[in-house]
Amino acid sequence: MLKTFSIGGIHPPENKLSVSAAITELPIPKTVVIPLAQHLGVPSKPIVQKGDQVKVGQLIAQSNGFISANIHASVSGKVVKIEPSADSTGYKRDAIFIETEGDEWMDGIDRSATLVKEIKLDRNAIIDKIAQSGIVGLGGATFPSHVKTMVPKGKKAEYLLINGVECEPYLTADHRLMLEKTNELVVGIQILMKALDVKKAIIGIENNKPDAIAIMKEAVKNIEGIKVQALKVQYPQGGEKQLISAVLGREVPSGGLPIDIGAVVYNVGSVFAIYEAVQKNKPLVERVVTITGKQVKKPSNFKVRIGTSVLELIEQAGGLPENTGKILNGGPMMGKALAQLDVPVVKGSSGILLIPEQEAIRKEVFTCIRCTKCISVCPMGLEPYLLGIEGEKGLYDKMENDRVMDCIECGSCSYVCPAGRPLLDYIRLGKGKVGQIIRKRNTK
Ligand code: SF4
Ligand code: SF4
Repeated sequence: MLKTFSIGGIHPPENKLSVSAAITELPIPKTVVIPLAQHLGVPSKPIVQKGDQVKVGQLIAQSNGFISANIHASVSGKVVKIEPSADSTGYKRDAIFIETEGDEWMDGIDRSATLVKEIKLDRNAIIDKIAQSGIVGLGGATFPSHVKTMVPKGKKAEYLLINGVECEPYLTADHRLMLEKTNELVVGIQILMKALDVKKAIIGIENNKPDAIAIMKEAVKNIEGIKVQALKVQYPQGGEKQLISAVLGREVPSGGLPIDIGAVVYNVGSVFAIYEAVQKNKPLVERVVTITGKQVKKPSNFKVRIGTSVLELIEQAGGLPENTGKILNGGPMMGKALAQLDVPVVKGSSGILLIPEQEAIRKEVFTCIRCTKCISVCPMGLEPYLLGIEGEKGLYDKMENDRVMDCIECGSCSYVCPAGRPLLDYIRLGKGKVGQIIRKRNTK
């Protein structure tokens, strides 16, 4: 029997419409808007000014804390302003605007397709290179990647897990990377094994991607310590804790981290970026983004320069379908609605989903009928109906006691609720408030 995580889970329609679309490069945009806060942690500090000329790959904003990340120019040209601009959340945050002139890259960046297998850098140099290159979790978590390689004293990384699950419906960027950049990913895994000093790496891939499982298995068959684990299709298996549970049968304790049980998890997108940084000296200036939807003319997987407007992706995928009701940054389960289209692709943008009007209509909300469906699907063992009520009433103390901070915002509870209760909306709101309360308490 195929492995999967221990509790909860659902199987929504997969709708992987863009799965056969090979990754293609989006034309270089005329302007980019590069937000300073596009990773978890402290926003970066700009080191360029209005009027400066920059090249692709040039550092334009520096990491500004332990949990922070460098940011590099994704186009060459002139910095025209640094001012607040709306991001995908709808809030205005500081961003660097660059007007493109040509496509001039920094010296020393290897843009060739040649596979570089030999890993020359030592452990510390690898970690430093990942930090310098501004790499963050590209699965959407955007946690700075170098921080994960620094295993705290007293802990030991035993397993490196590679997240090739991509369980979110519609999204295919990671699947395409596994098919098209297989050998680069294998080198990326070896780089991380060296950085973490681990002897065992496991690539977790759901069984609905037999081509990716086959190609990755073939690529690692003669490499000691790396194996591929096929997994049962079960949402949200791409969640870090769920992947660990599925692959290793170990559970991350409440409030704990994967390293507490000897695991470190990287998404395949981040592994590819790490390969490019360490072997090709290329900072994170572009990423693969899926643009898809049932009415989209050409569902696609584009390699996109960071800071490109979402509008340009939509145009290249055949334009905005007339009956579009909602546009999501991400997939249908965890994605968030975009308030406007002219927002930039950032490091954490894995996909853009265009939902037709008829599917975007909000369901009528009824009172909870205590059916317990939400409890049975919650992969974190929470009681979503209760958290929903508490969130609606602003009972944040109770939410904290009921472990709202363990919620991974997978949306499984909302998905199954027969009363149409927007549980995730209530829980997200409450989680934000509880997070603020905890931070305030800890700084006292
Ligand atoms: S969104 Fe949170 S509460 Fe709801 S099922 Fe997922 S983890 Fe559980
Ligand atoms: S699934 Fe909906 S109706 Fe059923 S217990 Fe949960 S909140 Fe109540």
